[in-house]
Amino acid sequence: MTIIMDGKKLAEKVTGNIKSEIKKYNIRPKLAVIMAGDNPSSKIYVQNKQKKALELGIDSVVLTFPQDVYEDNLLENIYILNEDVNINAILVQLPLPEHINTKRILEAIEPIKDVDGFTSYNFGLLALGYNPYCIPCTPKGILRLFDEYNIELEGKNVLVAGRSNIVGKPMMMLLQNRNATVTLAHSKTKNLKDISINSDIIISAVGKENLITEDMVKQNSIIIDVGINRDINGLKGDVDFKNVINKASYITPVPGGVGPMTIAMLMENTFELYKIQKNYQLL
Ligand code: NAD
Repeated sequence: MTIIMDGKKLAEKVTGNIKSEIKKYNIRPKLAVIMAGDNPSSKIYVQNKQKKALELGIDSVVLTFPQDVYEDNLLENIYILNEDVNINAILVQLPLPEHINTKRILEAIEPIKDVDGFTSYNFGLLALGYNPYCIPCTPKGILRLFDEYNIELEGKNVLVAGRSNIVGKPMMMLLQNRNATVTLAHSKTKNLKDISINSDIIISAVGKENLITEDMVKQNSIIIDVGINRDINGLKGDVDFKNVINKASYITPVPGGVGPMTIAMLMENTFELYKIQKNYQLL
């Protein structure tokens, strides 16, 4: 029987714990979000993050900038947030407008406020197998799902499809740190099926509907679908869920799988940064 991994339920458990700790200790962590341009998906994501933060007792502020914002203007605002003792976590909503040098903007964030773990300081620590201040939210959430369902990673063959700095690459590093054998596939990978059919676990973070089909997966494999594809019928992942489910031992749905875990991990990272900055010992 296939187990559908319930990311929504686990996310509620994680955020419920954060909410009660924040209440118990009467504290107010604060998240700052920088959003530039008019990407409609970004607006929805930022609204959802703010809504969740409010629900948990995390303050948030969103600084919005027009599509033609100057890079230096964004940098100046990040420097101000870095210095502001009331701000614990800084998030830059991606993608930024094309004329902006994303690397330069992300690198300006103080590593101790880098809630996404995207600065080279935190990313480098993760690559080296050390503890960064924060681990990128989506791969961290996927790891939490594995742990919740007692899925052992050591020695497993894992295919990660998609090599973005946000999902694929940090996912690969986290899995390697847990002694999995990882193949990182990308747009130039040839014969994805040859790799997928021999994988114990497939994590797809590409953004292509029906990229992973039933004939590409082996019996009893574990399928994690990160992809978000919107069409008139709503949200779909990268996996042909209704057919792949016949072969999988565990599978995440879209929506209700990885997505809610990403937001939950953002809340957790914000709370953890607060604790680090305040040298806060919970009793
Ligand atoms: P991206 O959109 O920056 O890049 C896509 C990646 O897929 C690239 O590395 C590319 O090389 C690779 N790719 C393209 N075609 C491929 C193929 N045929 N086989 C293997 N790899 C291929 O990546 P991203 O920002 O990580 O986003 C990927 C998907 O995950 C998107 O649909 C995005 O919306 C979604 N996403 C979901 C969450 C969540 O919380 N659920 C979080 C982040 C991203």
